[in-house]
Amino acid sequence: MDSTWSEHLVNVVDVEATCWAGDAPPGAVGEIIEIGLTVVDLDAGERIARRGILVRPDRSTVSAFCTELTGLTQDRVDQGLGFAEACRLLAAEHHAGSRPWVSWGDYDRHQFTRQCQATGVPYPFGRRHTNAKAVFTEAYGLRKRPGMARALEIAGRPLEGRHHRGGDDAWNIAGLVLHLSGRDAWPPRRTGATRSSAPV
Ligand code: AMP
Ligand code: MG
Repeated sequence: MDSTWSEHLVNVVDVEATCWAGDAPPGAVGEIIEIGLTVVDLDAGERIARRGILVRPDRSTVSAFCTELTGLTQDRVDQGLGFAEACRLLAAEHHAGSRPWVSWGDYDRHQFTRQCQATGVPYPFGRRHTNAKAVFTEAYGLRKRPGMARALEIAGRPLEGRHHRGGDDAWNIAGLVLHLSGRDAWPPRRTGATRSSAPV
C-alpha cells in the first residue's frame, strides 16, 4: 500500500499482455496479464515503492511465445486478480485517479483504454499521462524513438531484473525518469504529455 499523496509523486506503469508470434488465434484478444508499477518521488530523486500485479486473462491464454517473452505462465496468471479488481486496486492503493502517470510509449495507455472499453471496467487513471519515450527522445535529440533497453544503454544505466516483466520494466523506466529529471528534462514542458479525458 502506498498511502502518501503528493504532487511530486508519479506512478510509472508497464503492462504485459497475452501475445503471439503473429495474429491472435480466432476469438482471442490481447489482454493484460501483469501491471508493473513503481512510484517515483521526483523531489527526493528516489523510487519509493514497487509492485507487480498479476492479472488473470478472460478471453485469451498465455502462449508458449508469451511465456518465452515475459517469463509468465498460464498457471501463474491464473492466480492473479481479475482485471476489474486490479483496476480498483490501482485506484484505491496507488492514487491512480489523481496522480500523474508515466509509461514508455503509448502502448500501455492504449491497452488500458481498449480493455476498459471492451469490459466496461472503469478506467482507473486520471488525465495526466506522460510518454517518457517521447521525452527521452527529445532530451537526447534522437532521430528514432528507442526501446527501453536501448534507452538504458544510452543513459549508461544497467537493466535491472528481467526485461518484459512488468514489475522490472516499470522499475527501469522509473530509473530513466529520474535520469531525465537529473538532466533537467523532467518534468517535460510539453513533449510526451497527454491531457486526455478518460477513457480515450
Ligand atoms: P514490453 O513492455 O516491452 O514488455 O511489452 C509489453 C507487451 O507487448 C508484451 O507483454 C507483449 O504482449 C507485447 N510485446 C512486446 N514485444 C513483443 C514481441 N516482440 N512480439 C509480440 N508481442 C510483443
Ligand atoms: Mg514490459
